[in-house]
Amino acid sequence: MDNMVKLIADELVVACKRAYNRGIQTGSGGNVSARIPGKELMLVKESGSSLGDSTAEGFVITDFDGNVVEGTGKPTREVFLHGLLYKLCPEVNAVVHFHAPYSIGWASTGKYLPRVTWHSKLKIPSDIPVIDIPSAMVRREDSPLIEDILRNNPKLPGFILVDHGIVAMDKDPLNALHNAELIEETAKIALLKAVIGKLGI
Ligand SMILES: [Zn+2]
Repeated sequence: MDNMVKLIADELVVACKRAYNRGIQTGSGGNVSARIPGKELMLVKESGSSLGDSTAEGFVITDFDGNVVEGTGKPTREVFLHGLLYKLCPEVNAVVHFHAPYSIGWASTGKYLPRVTWHSKLKIPSDIPVIDIPSAMVRREDSPLIEDILRNNPKLPGFILVDHGIVAMDKDPLNALHNAELIEETAKIALLKAVIGKLGI
């Protein structure tokens, strides 16, 4: 791992630990990646470890199809999803995926997550899509669903997978994390507003 890749790995570690410490991801779920500049390669979290225990050594380098080119670990099983996003979105350099509880709760409505705060309206260009993929991981046959969403929303900061979690992306790991945090915060507030509406307060 050269120095530039090590710096990117360090940023991914910060993103992992923040997501874990804020409860956006618990246990050993969730995964993150970053594009290696100028190459059709990505740095991907290995499978099996907790985001809370992340280290720069806990990543492998793969191509966009998930084939390992450097490292001995096994990449996350979501490696196809990460590679797909780098192929589809040339401006995306980092992808984070968390099993975030409020976002998953919102996704059970089947509706796009509305931007219910001024902050989310400022930061997110459109409501957040909810995509129903009938699998624990995104597979090759699911890619048209994601391609359609991104074609219609090229500046999209992320989306939510039904019964699964947030996928957020941006130009670097910390901005991708910020997008995930904002989506989770927005989902939490949207659900609270829905509850208050139901109670007729
Ligand atoms: Zn997942």
